[in-house]
Amino acid sequence: GAAPATATSEDGISPEPCWVRVALDVPLMGVFDYRSAVPVSVGVRVAVPFGRRTLIGLVVAQPERPDLDPGQIRDVETILDDVPPMSAAWMRMVAFAAQYYQRPLGEVALPALPGSLRKLASYRGKRSGAGPVARLDARQARAGAKRSKATGETGGERSGAVAGPVDVLPDTVLNEAQNTAVQAILSGQGYRTALLHGVTGSGKTEVYLHVARQILAAGRQVLMLVPEINLTPQFEQALRRRFEPVVGPAGIAVMHSGLSEGERLQAWLAAQRGQARLVLGTRLAIFAPLQELGLIVVDEEHDASYKQQDGLRYSARDLAVWRGHDLGIPVVLGSATPALETWDHARRGRYLYLSLPERARIGELPTIRLVDTRRLALQHGLSPHLINAMRERLARQEQVLVFLNRRGYAPALHCHSCGWVGNCPRCTAYMVMHRDARAGRYVMQCHHCGWRQPVPRACPDCKDQDLQPMGRGTQRLEEHLAELFPGARVLRIDADSTRRKGSAEALFGQVHAGEVDILIGTQMVAKGHDFARLGLVGVLNADSMLFSHDFRAPERLFAQLMQVAGRAGRHLGGAEVLVQTGYPEQSVYQALLRHDYDGFADHALAERKTAGLPPYSYQALLSAEARELAQALAFLSQARELAQNQVQARPGATAVTLYDPVPLRIVRIAHVERAQLLLESASRQALQRLLQVWLPDLPMLAQTLRVRWQIEIDPLEI
Ligand code: ADP
Ligand code: ZN
Ligand code: ZN
Repeated sequence: GAAPATATSEDGISPEPCWVRVALDVPLMGVFDYRSAVPVSVGVRVAVPFGRRTLIGLVVAQPERPDLDPGQIRDVETILDDVPPMSAAWMRMVAFAAQYYQRPLGEVALPALPGSLRKLASYRGKRSGAGPVARLDARQARAGAKRSKATGETGGERSGAVAGPVDVLPDTVLNEAQNTAVQAILSGQGYRTALLHGVTGSGKTEVYLHVARQILAAGRQVLMLVPEINLTPQFEQALRRRFEPVVGPAGIAVMHSGLSEGERLQAWLAAQRGQARLVLGTRLAIFAPLQELGLIVVDEEHDASYKQQDGLRYSARDLAVWRGHDLGIPVVLGSATPALETWDHARRGRYLYLSLPERARIGELPTIRLVDTRRLALQHGLSPHLINAMRERLARQEQVLVFLNRRGYAPALHCHSCGWVGNCPRCTAYMVMHRDARAGRYVMQCHHCGWRQPVPRACPDCKDQDLQPMGRGTQRLEEHLAELFPGARVLRIDADSTRRKGSAEALFGQVHAGEVDILIGTQMVAKGHDFARLGLVGVLNADSMLFSHDFRAPERLFAQLMQVAGRAGRHLGGAEVLVQTGYPEQSVYQALLRHDYDGFADHALAERKTAGLPPYSYQALLSAEARELAQALAFLSQARELAQNQVQARPGATAVTLYDPVPLRIVRIAHVERAQLLLESASRQALQRLLQVWLPDLPMLAQTLRVRWQIEIDPLEI
């Protein structure tokens, strides 16, 4: 077509409109063009009309010509210039995430910003210039003025580059393996991902801190990811102790989903303005705007919490590797039990492999023993061995952890005369019996949909009144242990006992202060915590994870047991872990006895290779939800046919296997029935190409069949 005539008016201002392409957080693929009187840079937020609403979007391009007839294009309402434009590197990252995880760009880019920067309500009704950023800055200036009045100081905010390595606190003297690791991570230029492999207490954190110190000294920013909010306080403490003298209190920012909107905005701004030199956060912090990023650390890289389980189902660990590669900076993945994907990369030399073979301080790992429960009479699920070992440890003033990954009082309620078991009325799942301590009674609760109801007085089927709890959860275990060890102080830490904000920290504080003799916990206690006086760990019910349908179950079990074992004896020496099992000969347990991750991983990888499972293949999971299972299955079969056609249309390409649609193990949750379709290929590209041509056909199909669907790339649970 002909280029439009460029007429310039006398005052030199082009009367031609500028076009901007905007990503919006709406469930539609694609981006949207608008007209603006003045040019708007990529990475700037704008308020634009969308249908009958006004939305905040992000400018992603300045096209020369719009996609639509210019006559139909609407005007940008407001250009929000309260924060500098998002950097080109940040825009590349969200664009990659959108493309790889098959989501609209706006659904990735906008949720990655703090809520107050993408809500129009934050701006409306306020005087101009008084958006959330200006309000926060004004509030901080007032607080600063108050502080300096009180102390007689002028509150100079430090920002920008760090002058140099100012070591106020002497660092730990590294051992040889740690030194080698630090040197290897820092040597050379540009991108490299290192797997830092070492058991709990081997000194990985110390390696992160030494590397971080060098990167900070070079004037770059550092991003450290941890899997759980619960772990941020103690990590933050370690970071502040070490680095506050260097970067100041404002130089360290924390990002996780437990922050209030104001706190989140403040941390985000500090990161973007370069005041925060070191950002510590959970998975969402991978999207932190850091213009001078020089290092990314992912601690406990194998942890499933790095995978977001709804909306944009991204892996923060995988995005960290991508971001490091894109920026040409080192990435450190640390773990005692690396994900098999990571292990495979290291084995093939794609990642640098760095091992810390021993505990840094006390060179002794806890002894792991298996208690074969097949020939034993258990008392409330506890073997005589475990009970005796507990007695001995308690007599020596040591702490004991009993690990049971099942919260509630009992996993089900059961009628002894007819065999009835209490199901959730809304789900295909048992209701869990809970004790409501405050109300002093029991309730039935569904762990899948949250439904609660009183405990029935009698069996609904046979009217028998002898209903019994079946099995045990942490609450019931707490009751038994209090009976068995009347003198001991028993504390339970699980999702129920830590519901209120700050209560987890308070309970862990009690353990650290030595106010607890027996700690009962779910996976919440397995991670990260360093219990100084813990001499014994008892593991109950590990077998329930062994025979799961999921091919990753053994990997997860091994990691979890190693992690729990790692809680013991970090300062004591002579600590012991007793794992009760009915299947001691299983290879997971045998490898665990020897603390042999390498043996376990190599064996598991060989099995995966034979079966063509990840990391030897790439997967995507299409799931469907409907009122009736039949609808969901019909959608998936038709979708499968569409995919089949696409596969046949390109005979040369690497094969993509399309499995049969299947109902989920728990078919119904909250009256919604669910099924899934697995796609698998030896080639990541082949799978991605298929998804790109296939997924655009699904919205129509889903609408006709009245099905909700989503696609997950690299699913962790199938
Ligand atoms: P990890 O992160 O692998 O669990 P940490 O880095 O937390 O291990 O180290 C475990 C313990 O050993 C910590 O108390 C730490 O201060 C200490 N530590 C680490 N490295 C050394 C070292 N080189 N010399 C002495 N103590 C060390
Ligand atoms: Zn009955
Ligand atoms: Zn339910």
